[in-house]
Amino acid sequence: MNIVLLGAPGAGKGTQAEKLVDAYDIAHISTGNILRAAVGAQTPLGLEAQSYMDAGELVPDSVVIGLVKERLEEEDTDKGFILDGFPRTATQAVALASELEEMGRGIDCAIAVKVAPEIIVKRLSSRRLCKACGYIGRVSDAACPVCGDKLYQRDDDKPATVKNRLEVYEKSTAPLIDYYRGADLLVEVDGEQSPGVVFEQIQVALSQGSRRKETSCRDESERAVL
Ligand code: AMP
Repeated sequence: MNIVLLGAPGAGKGTQAEKLVDAYDIAHISTGNILRAAVGAQTPLGLEAQSYMDAGELVPDSVVIGLVKERLEEEDTDKGFILDGFPRTATQAVALASELEEMGRGIDCAIAVKVAPEIIVKRLSSRRLCKACGYIGRVSDAACPVCGDKLYQRDDDKPATVKNRLEVYEKSTAPLIDYYRGADLLVEVDGEQSPGVVFEQIQVALSQGSRRKETSCRDESERAVL
C-alpha cells in the first residue's frame, strides 16, 4: 500500500503516519524528519535546508525531490510506504508520479487530514516533541511518556514562523488536494476529531478501497498513472 498524507502543519499527519506504519507495516517517509535530522547533523543537506526551515519556507523542490527519490530506492519501501509531508508543491507531485511510474509503482491513496486554521495555530503552539524517540506530545506533558526524555518545542512551531507555514501551505500545498481528487485517489478525513477516531476513518477508507463510491482509494491492481 502506497499512501500520500496531505494536510496543514499540525493537522496530525505525523501521528496518523505512525499509526499507519504500525498497522500496515509500511515504510514511513517524512521529509520533515529527514531534513531535521540533516540539520541536526549539520550535513551539507542540513546546512542548505536550515534557513528555509527556520523561516517556515519550503526547501527547494530539487533538493527535496532528490532525497525522496533516494529514499524510495531503499528496500523497506518495497512493502509499501507512507509519504508524510511530501509532495508539498505541484512540481513535487508531478516528479513523484513520474518517479513511481519509472519504478513500476504508483500511489494507492491520498489522504487529506482537514483541520481549521485556528485549531492548527493552537495545536502547533502547544506541540512538544521528543528528540530521542520522536514522540509527539503537548506542553502539558512533563516528559516523554514513551522513553522519559525531555520534550522540546520545534523552532518552527513558534508563533512567528507558524503564520508563514500556514500561508505557504495554503498557497503551495492545498492545491494538491484537487490534484489527487482529479486523479480519483483522494480521501478526506476530519482531523479535528481525536487521533483514534481519525485513524478509524482512515482505516475504513483504506479497507474499502474503490468498492465504495464516496472513497477513492485504489486497490493495488488498479493504480492510477497520474
Ligand atoms: P514538517 O515536519 O513536515 O512540518 O516539515 C518541516 C519543514 O521542513 C517545512 O516547514 C519545510 O521547511 C521543510 N519541508 C518538509 N517537507 C518538505 C517538502 N516536501 N518540500 C519542501 N520543504 C519541506
